[in-house]
Amino acid sequence: MSAILGTYNRKKISFKKGKGAYLYAHNGKKYLDFVSGIAVNSLGHCHSHMVRAIQKQSKKLIHVSNAFEIPEQEKLAKRLTKNSFADFVVFVNSGAEATEASIKIARKYFFEKGMPHKNRIITFEGAFHGRTLAALFAANNQEHIKGFGPKVEGFDQVPFGNHEALKEAITDNTAAIMVETILGEGGIKVIPNECLIGLRKICDEKNILLILDEVQCGIGRSGKLFAFDYAKIKPDIVPIAKGIGGGFPIGACLVNKKASIGMKPGTHGSTFGGNPLAMSVGNAVLDVILKKGFLKNVEKNGKFFKDELVKLKNKYHNKVIDVRGKGLLIGIKLSINNTKFLDHIFKNKLLAVKAAGNVIRLLPPLIVKKSEIKQAINIIDKSLKDFK
Ligand SMILES: *Cc1c(COP(=O)(O)O)cnc(C)c1O
Repeated sequence: MSAILGTYNRKKISFKKGKGAYLYAHNGKKYLDFVSGIAVNSLGHCHSHMVRAIQKQSKKLIHVSNAFEIPEQEKLAKRLTKNSFADFVVFVNSGAEATEASIKIARKYFFEKGMPHKNRIITFEGAFHGRTLAALFAANNQEHIKGFGPKVEGFDQVPFGNHEALKEAITDNTAAIMVETILGEGGIKVIPNECLIGLRKICDEKNILLILDEVQCGIGRSGKLFAFDYAKIKPDIVPIAKGIGGGFPIGACLVNKKASIGMKPGTHGSTFGGNPLAMSVGNAVLDVILKKGFLKNVEKNGKFFKDELVKLKNKYHNKVIDVRGKGLLIGIKLSINNTKFLDHIFKNKLLAVKAAGNVIRLLPPLIVKKSEIKQAINIIDKSLKDFK
């Protein structure tokens, strides 16, 4: 019997090493890893630049308190703000902590402005913002919240894509609208550019802050540094996590000057958040992602992958309903059972993960090669053909 609390249904396999887009299992088999720790291993497994950064920094200084200045943290914050809408960054350790910080910043902004009644956040059905209590009740996924009451108050949920319902849900008490730019766990639902532009407009008109959760779709995953870059809009608050650490636990919340005004010394804190080792890794990840041409290549590879998948959709139209996503955040909506299909491609040595709505998610590392995408396409093709 395992001594690990049974909160996961784990596949009966473990890995001894990883290199690039491949994982090597204890059973001797080699797998093409298109899970990437769920959009985390942005540079693939054990990228030499990241390994060197960990080695170098861990010999110098691993952790000091945020009671002191941390130059590596300042450097990463400067690079994130220089490359985005944000003026400030606060570092935490995970996506859920980053979305929680976003909620706190939004509420505190209106408190500081003398409008403490503006404290409610509008969210969307199918959302995922993490597993802490506020993040759970923000997303309002019935399976996730069951048994974890009492409910955390302050969230109003509307159906995804229903513009009228959204307008009706806005009241004098609304502080923010919070949504993933591309819904990840919810089934790779891309919010169209014109809707993002519309959201920005509504927020401006009604004096509401716009929080775009880029924990999964941010830091290059979509083919741009941030998925909202496609719509050329500026949100107010953006939680990030997964990809920025490349496998090292880092979360962060990006915020513009306006929305930041309530957050003074003592209003937020994290023991581990932004320590020198974590920040060195985050900087190493950005060294690679911000290199000229890197993101263009992610966009190009993503487009190639999606185009090839659309061909498979047409070939197996009785098994595939939809192919969607941006960059290397791709979902395939199936009419055959997604869990069974994942078992199938697993037998053919490709790893992927499911999402809501009978979707499978393909999340290769951002450094994936075209030849590896072709290999995945061949496996998916064969698996669709053989699926009975
Ligand atoms: C994964 C995820 C989170 C939660 O991140 P954790 O690191 O698991 O706490 C929050 N929001 C989105 C959009 C995510 O995909």
